[in-house]
Amino acid sequence: MVIAVASGKGGTGKTTVAVSLAIAAAEHSPLKPLLLDCDVEEPNSGLFLDIDYTYGRDTGVLVPEVDLDKCTYCGRCAEVCVWNSIAVAGEKVLVFRDLCHGCGSCGLVCPEDAISDFTHVTGRIEGGTDGSINFARGILNVGQAMPVPVITSLLNEYLTQSVDGTVIIDASPGTSCPVVEAVSRSDYVILVTEPTPFGLHDLKAAVDVVVSQLNIPAGVIINRDGIGNNEVEKYCQTANLPILAKIPMDRRIAEFLSEGIPLLTGLPEYREVFLDILAAVREEVMK
Ligand code: SF4
Ligand code: SF4
Repeated sequence: MVIAVASGKGGTGKTTVAVSLAIAAAEHSPLKPLLLDCDVEEPNSGLFLDIDYTYGRDTGVLVPEVDLDKCTYCGRCAEVCVWNSIAVAGEKVLVFRDLCHGCGSCGLVCPEDAISDFTHVTGRIEGGTDGSINFARGILNVGQAMPVPVITSLLNEYLTQSVDGTVIIDASPGTSCPVVEAVSRSDYVILVTEPTPFGLHDLKAAVDVVVSQLNIPAGVIINRDGIGNNEVEKYCQTANLPILAKIPMDRRIAEFLSEGIPLLTGLPEYREVFLDILAAVREEVMK
């Protein structure tokens, strides 16, 4: 079972929920869960676990390299590139590799077979374990603009392995391409929000992407319950979205997290909350 944890809005507690679910799953089952940190621009879930990293490799995008001895400057490569990542100007072919999505179309249409590929390194994949949780993260290199290829590499590498236990994916905040990539192979998406007008606005955007467009079943966790108003609850009822849990506004949670102590380590009384969430999601997925 692959569960993605996402949020339309940053700072809602998405990583806290993802780490807590992984800890609860590890305590509940003899099978080690796998936590994948796909928030590659800010992969911080590993900070709450004492991970011994045993694996790492660079990853990136296959970008074109043009053999000017073969090139006739016909311009077909530039015409086919919808991202304007390659341009032909007179007797020059310019490749803007930071814009290139590595789709390979330019190489396919080149009539002179003048285009080959090389890997432009944009990030890194690292994996390890804390003993009870298997963990892997993608890291986008500083200055790189495209997180999706790093996320794709991470998922390709770890979701194709045989995984016996629950997989928890910590997705990026927001509703753009990195989120779509991170959640699209999931059986269920947990949307973490807070009961405020901003939380409601961004929850609606996330529901539109995850449920309406990707057609993945989803439920909601309301974090910092007690602040704001009850509009998020009303919306969930109207939209037929199950509220999996409400986590109260509890200053102690912030205090433990600020010291890098996971919620379930600092406040074990929340353990049942996350076990109930896992059970509810499992039931939904099995329907
Ligand atoms: S399609 Fe091939 S031959 Fe034509 S400009 Fe591009 S690289 Fe050169
Ligand atoms: S690989 Fe795709 S994105 Fe990159 S330059 Fe070629 S056509 Fe454009």
